[in-house]
Amino acid sequence: MDVYDELLKLCGFEPGEAKDYKPTLKEGLGKLLVTEDDVRFAVTERLPKCWSVNLEGMRRVLGCWLREYIRLAIPTPDETRICHTFFPQLGMAYLHPIKLADPTVRVGLPDFLATFVGAAFFNVGWKYVEAAEREGAAIEQIGCSLNKIRYGLHILKIVPRVDASICFHSLCDDAALTDQLIHEWDGTNVYTPYRVRDIAFDGDPFDETNIEYFVASLEEGHRKAEEWLGIKIKPEHKTKAMELLVELSTRTYVPILEFMKVDPAPLNGNDLLHAFFPIAVPFDTGYDELFKAHDILQEELKEMVDQGKGVVPKGTPRVTWRITHPWGCPWIIPMCHELGLSADFGEAFLIGGMQFNKAAEIWEGATDVYRMTAGFLPMVSVLGTSLEYMFRCDEEHIQEYKIDGFISTGYRPCRTLEGHSLILARMIEERIGIPCITPDVDIYIDRGDFPKERMRTLLETFADIVKRSKAKKEKKE
Ligand code: SF4
Repeated sequence: MDVYDELLKLCGFEPGEAKDYKPTLKEGLGKLLVTEDDVRFAVTERLPKCWSVNLEGMRRVLGCWLREYIRLAIPTPDETRICHTFFPQLGMAYLHPIKLADPTVRVGLPDFLATFVGAAFFNVGWKYVEAAEREGAAIEQIGCSLNKIRYGLHILKIVPRVDASICFHSLCDDAALTDQLIHEWDGTNVYTPYRVRDIAFDGDPFDETNIEYFVASLEEGHRKAEEWLGIKIKPEHKTKAMELLVELSTRTYVPILEFMKVDPAPLNGNDLLHAFFPIAVPFDTGYDELFKAHDILQEELKEMVDQGKGVVPKGTPRVTWRITHPWGCPWIIPMCHELGLSADFGEAFLIGGMQFNKAAEIWEGATDVYRMTAGFLPMVSVLGTSLEYMFRCDEEHIQEYKIDGFISTGYRPCRTLEGHSLILARMIEERIGIPCITPDVDIYIDRGDFPKERMRTLLETFADIVKRSKAKKEKKE
């Protein structure tokens, strides 16, 4: 078996297209440190076990991600300047005006591509992380793997010096430190706002001061990009970016949200992440392929729902992941299925009515891209919001998706996620009364620090508790 041909097949490439793309694929994977053995692992283990590659639409969605990842290493010849930003702001809406102002500027969130494809498909995320650790990003210092991946990509020269890294770290101060390291390393131009925005435990995340703070950070980031890239972002570029975000949301996100309410749900947690995230992660290769993939996927999902088919049998207890799920370790999803849990739901993206209405209000009332993005930030980010608001969102998500258990992923290298995770788990257990756990797992890479068997033991016990709790609840009803 030629593993590269197989990879292209599993990523939805048509035969002719695959033949033309194969040399670029091989060259790109080589530069990204993905060996032939890593590709073999992806095509024999990872992709078939962890994603619904039986669905053509899903294969094509994965193909869109693969193209973006390869492009990190093989830019098009006319791409002369680079502009990056940092998750979790809506990078798509924020970077798209820059792309429209000058299509030869390459925009992106390289760390997310490296984890969503490099770590998830090929399990090579640790290679970027270890490069960063060798150059000073020590454990417990600048600890999270996402930040280390970003730094590692520069050290390995996969990402060259960036002309404008408008990583306004209003949401993560460790990201600011990482960017300082990157700046010292290769002279990348970095824009850092003054401080992380703190919100009171029970504060209103949509409070005008909060929104104004984000708006100012976003505006300043674009000003820096204009200066460093020599471009002019015009009002029509920003309007078009907002329109694209709305189109992406209504054509990809909203329909899938509805499909996931059905029991059994037709997609698994890994599928969902890749199908949803293009509304947040900019796709430099464009969105035409993605829309095509979604049209096909949604036809397939409709058929599945009509026939009562899903990834697990109807009635399987549903548990949800806080912070979607650990996408660096996609094997967790099939492990949950084996243990009789449908762990395919993530609270950050499968939103309930309150958040949905708020999103609609923001779309409808948006006058510019900064206010719109600033409005969405407290909804999608765990950092720019308050714990009480997060709890209300979780509560609603649990009710609307009929969730029986809650997995609040702990993540020690990130003090924010770790702290929120434990507090929210306690709030949910005490106030809603469903079982919760806080497994400690790296959400960005799989380096084997969190052995699978340890996770299986934990999830086995949890599955047992969730099943008993669900049975007890049903008996009462
Ligand atoms: S995981 Fe934590 S430290 Fe890492 S980027 Fe996100 S918020 Fe920052």
